[in-house]
Amino acid sequence: LYPINYKNTSKIVLILALLLLVSSVFNYIPWWSIIILFFIYSVILFLGSYNVCSNFYLNVFCKSGKSKNQIAITFDDGPDENNTPKILRILNDFDTRATFFVIGHKAEKCPHIIKEMIEKEHLLGNHTYNHSVVFDFYTTSKVLYELERTNILLEKISKKKIEYFRPPFGVTNPNIAKALKKNSLKVIGWSIRSLDTIKKKKTVWSRIAKVKSGDIILFHDTKTLTVEILGDFLRLCKRKKLEIVTIDELINT
Ligand SMILES: [Zn+2]
Repeated sequence: LYPINYKNTSKIVLILALLLLVSSVFNYIPWWSIIILFFIYSVILFLGSYNVCSNFYLNVFCKSGKSKNQIAITFDDGPDENNTPKILRILNDFDTRATFFVIGHKAEKCPHIIKEMIEKEHLLGNHTYNHSVVFDFYTTSKVLYELERTNILLEKISKKKIEYFRPPFGVTNPNIAKALKKNSLKVIGWSIRSLDTIKKKKTVWSRIAKVKSGDIILFHDTKTLTVEILGDFLRLCKRKKLEIVTIDELINT
């Protein structure tokens, strides 16, 4: 669905609906055509929320158009006591830097893993404190609390300023947008979703093997499958002559 301009499309549909509403008052058109248009409008709003790169409610960085053979690999939902140390070891073997969008309450339980990420010069990002399944329905103040609690915690452990945020499930909405206006976090999406949490190895590989300059790849450091596939992926990047950088470097290119 990317790169539809959801914002402009939704405005056009809304204006059309209003025009039809006026027309229907004067009996020019049947009343039900307005229902159809409002339905289309709702669908656009829904897609705009659930497509992280729609830029519907806020600007999300999903890939770099200017990168010269650079890509970024990102890991969400950790740190995981079991799998994250293995991921860190593989990255270290390949002398590669990644970006980790960590969940606050998990970071609180294993600060040693966060410290190791910083020691190895990986970049840390905020992925909310609780990663609740109902995060999309949170009020602005509740979203803000999730962001700030995680930032304070990560900055205390890492002694680094946290500048990047990835919304859980890639969902954006007006409340999340309002909360983000109150702090300076930049929102990061992805251009390749590995689907490592739900798909089998073969499918994941066919998705990530398409990697090209400027891409941001979404992995999860909570999954054994990701540990199994990472080495092969890093070798593929080497063959494709793609340099792996952290999100801040990719944004600044
Ligand atoms: Zn997540």
